[in-house]
Amino acid sequence: MVENVLKVQQLKVAYGGIKAVKGIDLVVNKGELITLIGANGAGKTTTLKAITGTLPSCKVEGEILYMGGSIRSKNSFELVTEHLAMVPEGRGVFTRMTIHENLMMGAYTRNDKGGIAADIDKWYAVFPRLKERSAQLAGTLSGGEQQMLAMARALMSHPNLLLLDEPSMGLSPIMVEKIFEVIRNVSAQGVTILLVEQNAKLALQAAHRGYVMDSGLITMSGNAKDMLDDPKVQAAYLGEG
Ligand code: ATP
Repeated sequence: MVENVLKVQQLKVAYGGIKAVKGIDLVVNKGELITLIGANGAGKTTTLKAITGTLPSCKVEGEILYMGGSIRSKNSFELVTEHLAMVPEGRGVFTRMTIHENLMMGAYTRNDKGGIAADIDKWYAVFPRLKERSAQLAGTLSGGEQQMLAMARALMSHPNLLLLDEPSMGLSPIMVEKIFEVIRNVSAQGVTILLVEQNAKLALQAAHRGYVMDSGLITMSGNAKDMLDDPKVQAAYLGEG
């Protein structure tokens, strides 16, 4: 049986007169890596903000079901305690804390000391760069390393769903490759992920399924490999064709 971790139905978001999201449907099943791609201003970040309860509810219409229940009226703090984790654009690591302290902050809703220590070891194995630098202040890390730290910190909360907003933003091509390798690795550990990305090619290569967003609407969706082969997707989003 397929279990929906997230089900978005007819989601609409308006900022005053500007309709940023115009009625979208989207499903993320347990264990899936789903990507939401599309051009600048398509409404991707707004969609994530609606899901994580960071927009005033008067701006949002439609239904958002998480683990089978409505989260329309929940705020971001309540959602963290329900294991919905978001790594926003710009990462948001605690720059004056060490890597280790940042990871401990990620586990602040937990009190299982042994489990926390085991998780730190587990994610250090996935992010060896962080392990080497565990006593270093997060503010001194490179952009890519901060992205890895932000992901590892989110994973410390045992998320049922991990939302990633443009993790490749502003990184060098080599670091982008590295971040995608890590995303694939995290997904292979069984973590359910919704990935918003402008790098459509790498995102579709990593994902199980994809959604294309354009001017507030979902214009295409399907198996990620099929989308990579689709001439329309290639011409519009992959710089091919
Ligand atoms: P990008 O990849 O550039 O981040 P995006 O697909 O994430 O793009 P959004 O950031 O969701 O797009 O923006 C969708 C639309 O909503 C844009 O037209 C944007 O200008 C508008 N918008 C976003 N935030 C606000 C806001 N706080 N007030 C008014 N308009 C906004």
